[in-house]
Amino acid sequence: MPSIFTRIVNGEIPCYKIAEDDQFLAFLDINPLAKGHTLVIPKKEIDYLFDIDDDQYRDMWLFSKKVALAVEKVVPCQRIGIAVLGLEVPHAHIHLVPINSVYDIDFSKPKLKLSQEEFQLLAGRITGEYAKAGQ
Ligand code: 5GP
Repeated sequence: MPSIFTRIVNGEIPCYKIAEDDQFLAFLDINPLAKGHTLVIPKKEIDYLFDIDDDQYRDMWLFSKKVALAVEKVVPCQRIGIAVLGLEVPHAHIHLVPINSVYDIDFSKPKLKLSQEEFQLLAGRITGEYAKAGQ
């Protein structure tokens, strides 16, 4: 059965898209730890990040860097924290989370509830910064 993220890649489930290229997709986490919490996934389904082949693995981090720089232009924060868990969705993904303290990237804390309008506004602004950076 395809993962929920493959279903997003295939357009069967909607997402608040941030950026994509032929290999990767970035979209807002639906249960964010912070405004701008973004997931980066390979379009080709693979469960474990460290099973990705070296070239694609390098490309995924470079793609994530460009996305992170766009997120931090929109969401005021000290920096973008990175986490890889994969305990809920068996499709490799990198969490990019705007943080000001270690507590901001504590996955056991309650998630934010954002409205559709807030998600759309954030996604639009981050996408704009990503495009401005000439990706
Ligand atoms: P993990 O697998 O790293 O433990 O967590 C998976 C993450 O994916 C969670 O932060 C969860 O909120 C997010 N997530 C799960 N299902 C969906 C979905 O359908 N859409 C989006 N945008 N995010 C999801």
